[in-house]
Amino acid sequence: MYNEQILIVEDEPAIREMIAMTLEMAGFDSLHAADVAEAHQQVVDHRPALILLDWMLNGEKSGIDFCRMLKNDDSLAEIPVIMLTAKSEEDSKVHGLDAGADDYMTKPFSTRELISRIKAVLRRSSALSADKPIEIGKLSLDPKSQRVTAAGQLIDIGPTEYRLLAFFMSHPERAYTRTQLLDQVWGGNVYIEDRTIDVHIRRLRKLLQPYDCATLIQTVRGTGYRFSSLIESI
Ligand code: CA
Repeated sequence: MYNEQILIVEDEPAIREMIAMTLEMAGFDSLHAADVAEAHQQVVDHRPALILLDWMLNGEKSGIDFCRMLKNDDSLAEIPVIMLTAKSEEDSKVHGLDAGADDYMTKPFSTRELISRIKAVLRRSSALSADKPIEIGKLSLDPKSQRVTAAGQLIDIGPTEYRLLAFFMSHPERAYTRTQLLDQVWGGNVYIEDRTIDVHIRRLRKLLQPYDCATLIQTVRGTGYRFSSLIESI
């Protein structure tokens, strides 16, 4: 379905197999490596679309070392990495993201969440690298022309709502606080109240309402907002 190869770097065969089966059911091909040396060989030989990288690996080098190495290599830095770690590995999230990982998951995770994160990261990386239109449900956003269509119809969207929607569509299935959205969409140095976000969210939902797409922008109670095509109880 996707024709994309995902490299699984994991030293525990049972977990590797479980992940491989999950990927296969979702239509992805997988490549396998048990340590950093094997992983490096696979990356050079096959250039996978994404790497699922376990934090703790047998051998001299850890997953984090490998991640850092990839991100310091211009020819490989664009391959997105999702770090996998056990809950006990404290502060690993910060280290993982510091090392340049694109996302991070704590074991045990649901297969559904894994697939949804993989798709989100792939979407983001292809959107960033190729300026390709992003399509989610009926919505399509073209970064080149800065046009948004819903079910083929052009939406008359203002610049702020466009930037907000572009951010959401390239970062789906993740909850963001109002402060994070301000930083990402408006830039960190502007002085705008958090509540300003709510105004733009309302406008955006109103624009999407005629196409039944307003529910894509979900309120996450106690946090902020999330763009999601999954129907969940909020
Ligand atoms: Ca491990």
